[in-house]
Amino acid sequence: MPVQNKLRRRLNINFMAMAVVMLFACGLLYYSLRLQSSYTSKISLTSRQKAIAIEITRDFYFLLEKSKSGKDIAAELREMNVLIEQWTNAQKALLNGSEYYGTSVENTVLVQSMLQDASPSFVQCSDLLKEFFQSPQTFDDAKYTSFTTGIETYVGKINNITGKYLIESEETAGTIKYIFWALVSTALLLLFLATWRVLNPLKKYIEQAYEEVGELEAKLLKADGAKTEFLSNMSHEIRTPLNGVIGMTELLAATSLDEEQRGYVRNVHSSAQNLLDVVNDVLDYSKLDSGKLELHKERFNLSDCVDQVIDLMKPVSSAKKLELMSDLDATLPMEFLMDERRLRQVLLNLVNNAIKFTENGEVLVKAELINRESDFVQIKFSVRDTGIGIDPAEAGNLFQSFYQVDSSISKKYGGSGLGLAICKNLVQEMGGRIWMESKPGQGSTFSFTVVAETAGIVQEEKIDALNGMRALIVDDNKTNLKILVKQLSAWGIQATPFNSPELVTEILSNLHKFDFIIMDMQMPEMDGKSLAQKIRAQYTDKQLPLIVLSSVGEHLMLDKENFYNAYLNKPVKQSRLLDTIVEVMNLSTVNKAKEKISSGNKEVMNQKSTLKILVAHDNDLSRAVTAKTLQLLGHRYDSVNNGKELLEKSRRDDYDLIIMDVKMNDMDGIETTKQLKKIVGKNSMPVIIGITENESRDKQECIQAGMDDMIEKPMKPEILQQKIHYWLETEE
Ligand code: ADP
Repeated sequence: MPVQNKLRRRLNINFMAMAVVMLFACGLLYYSLRLQSSYTSKISLTSRQKAIAIEITRDFYFLLEKSKSGKDIAAELREMNVLIEQWTNAQKALLNGSEYYGTSVENTVLVQSMLQDASPSFVQCSDLLKEFFQSPQTFDDAKYTSFTTGIETYVGKINNITGKYLIESEETAGTIKYIFWALVSTALLLLFLATWRVLNPLKKYIEQAYEEVGELEAKLLKADGAKTEFLSNMSHEIRTPLNGVIGMTELLAATSLDEEQRGYVRNVHSSAQNLLDVVNDVLDYSKLDSGKLELHKERFNLSDCVDQVIDLMKPVSSAKKLELMSDLDATLPMEFLMDERRLRQVLLNLVNNAIKFTENGEVLVKAELINRESDFVQIKFSVRDTGIGIDPAEAGNLFQSFYQVDSSISKKYGGSGLGLAICKNLVQEMGGRIWMESKPGQGSTFSFTVVAETAGIVQEEKIDALNGMRALIVDDNKTNLKILVKQLSAWGIQATPFNSPELVTEILSNLHKFDFIIMDMQMPEMDGKSLAQKIRAQYTDKQLPLIVLSSVGEHLMLDKENFYNAYLNKPVKQSRLLDTIVEVMNLSTVNKAKEKISSGNKEVMNQKSTLKILVAHDNDLSRAVTAKTLQLLGHRYDSVNNGKELLEKSRRDDYDLIIMDVKMNDMDGIETTKQLKKIVGKNSMPVIIGITENESRDKQECIQAGMDDMIEKPMKPEILQQKIHYWLETEE
C-alpha cells in the first residue's frame, strides 16, 4: 500500500477513536451538569421545607392563641393554607421527583429511605394542621405540643437529608471530575498515538525520500561532472591538435612562401581559428550551464579593450567594405576591475555577428555611462549594424542556446547557435542584461549592460613613470615623426626626431644618451633591421630598447636575432604606444634577469639561456610547438612524451624548469608532479608550469600538487616568456 494511503488510514482510525472518546466525554459532562443542578434544587428545596415548617409552627401558635380569644381567624387560615399546600407539594417533589422543582433525577436509595423516614412526622403534622383547620375551637394545647414535637422531628430529619444531599453532590462532582479528566487524558493519549503513528512513518518516509534525493543528486552530479569532463576532454582532444595546427601555421607563415602558399596558410589558419572558436563556445556553454565559469577580475583599460575588438575585426569588416567604428562616452572612466577577456568575448561575438549579417554600411560599437555610484559604474554597450535585421518576433528566442534564425543567410554562415546564449550568460554574470532591437531590412542593435568597478587613474601613473625620459625616433615619414614627437612630449618624454637611419648610424656612439628608440621598419635608405643590427652591435637590448613600428602583421615579424624589444602595428594607437613603452622599460629588467642566468656570455645579441628546461607532452605536435617556441625565445630544452619518461629523466638530470601538459594519458600532470616531489624532494623541485585548456578549473589542483604556474592553451610565446621571466627572476 502506498505510504500516503497507509498514513491516511491510520490518521482516520485515530481520529474516529478520538471522536468517540470526545462524544462520551460530552455526554458525561451533560449528565454531570444535570445531576449537579438537580442536587442544587434538592438542597435548596430541603432548606425551604425546613424554613416553611418553622414559619408554619410560628403562625400556627399565633392563630391558636387568637382563636382561643374568640377572634375571627378565617383570613389568616386561608393564607396559611397556601403555605401548607406549598409545603406538601415540595415534600412530594422530594419523594417522587418533579420536573417543575428540578428534582427529576432519582434519589439514591439511602436518601429515599431517609425521606420515607421523615414522612410519618410530616404526615402527623399535616393531619394535626387539618384537624385545626376543621375545628380550631376544639384544638387543645396537648395537640399543639404533639404538633411541635412532630415538626421538630421532621426538621431534624430534613436537616440530615440536606447534609446527605451536600455530601452526595460533592462526591458526584469529584467522581465526574475524575472521569472527565480520565477521558481528556485518553483523548490526549489517542492524539499523541495518532501523531506518533503518523509522524514516525512520516519521518521514516521523509528520511527515505531524502536519501533517494541525495542518491539522485549524486547521480546527477556525477552525470553532470561526466558531461563537463567529457566536453572538457573532447575540447582538449580537439584543441590540442588544433593548437598544433595554429602554432605550426604561424611558424609556417613566418617562413618564405610565395603568395599562393601564403593564401593557403592564411586559410588554414583562419579555419583552424574558427574551429577553435566553436570548441571554445561549446566548452564555455558547458561551463556556464554547470555554473563552473568563474570571472577573473583584472585591472584593464576599456578603451584598449574596445580597440582590440576593433583591431581584431577590422580585417573582416574591411574585406566586406564595411565601416567599423567605435564611440566611447567621454564621461566614462577607462580603468576598471573586470574580467576583460569575457567582456571582450561578448563584444567580439556581437561585432562578429553584426559584420556577418551586414552587406553594406557600417557597424558601430558604443559604450555609454548609465549610472555611477561610489566606485561602481553601470556601462551600456551597444553594437549597431545596418544589416539584414531580425524579425522582432524572434527577439525572445535569439538568446536561447542552439537557436539560429531560420533564414538562408543564417544557414550560409553556419555557427554553433550558442554565441548569443553565451553572451547572455556572461552578461548576467557581469551583473547586467542583454537585449536586441531591430528593423528587418534596416539593421539591428544588440545592447547590454554591465556593472564594473573603477580602478583609479592608471594612465596617469604610467605617464608619471615616463616623465623626463629621452627617446630617439627614426622614421622617414615626416608627418609620422611629428605625430610621435607630439605624443611623446605630451607624456613628458624628450623626443628627438631623425628622418633618416643613415643619420643615426653617424651618432651611434652617442646613442647611450637615449633611454629607448622608436623606429620605423620600412625605410627606403636602410631598413629597420639593418639599423637595428648596427645598434645592437654596440648596445644590448637592456641598454637601449628598440621599439619597431611596422605595417606588416606582428606574427610575420619574426625576430630570430632578438634585435627588438617590441613591435607595434601602424597606425599606432596612443594607449598601445604608452603601454609598450612602459612594458619595454620594464623589459630591460627582464633582460637583466636573462643576463644573470646566461653563462657569462656578455654578448646579449647571441645570448643563449642556460636554463635547463624539460618539456613533457604526449602530443607530438603540441610538444613540437612548445619546443619551437622555447627555441625562438632562446632556450634549450629536453622533451619527453609522458609523465613516466619525465620522472625517469628527472632522476638523471636536474632541471630548472619543467613545462608539462596537465592532461597526459598515461600519468597526468598532477600525478607526475606529486611523484616528482617524492623523487627529488620538496626543496629541490624545479619550477613547474602546467599547460591546460582550462586554468580556472585546474589551477587549484595543480598548485596543490606542487606546480607553480599555469598557461592556458593555445599557448602564446609572449605569455611563456613572461612566465619564464617571472619565475626565474623570483628564483634568483
Ligand atoms: P551563431 O554562432 O550561430 O551566429 P548566435 O547565437 O551568435 O549564433 O546568433 C544566433 C542567430 O541570431 C544567428 O544565427 C542569426 O540568425 C541571428 N543574429 C545574430 N546577430 C545578428 C545580427 N546582427 N543581424 C541579424 N541576425 C543576427
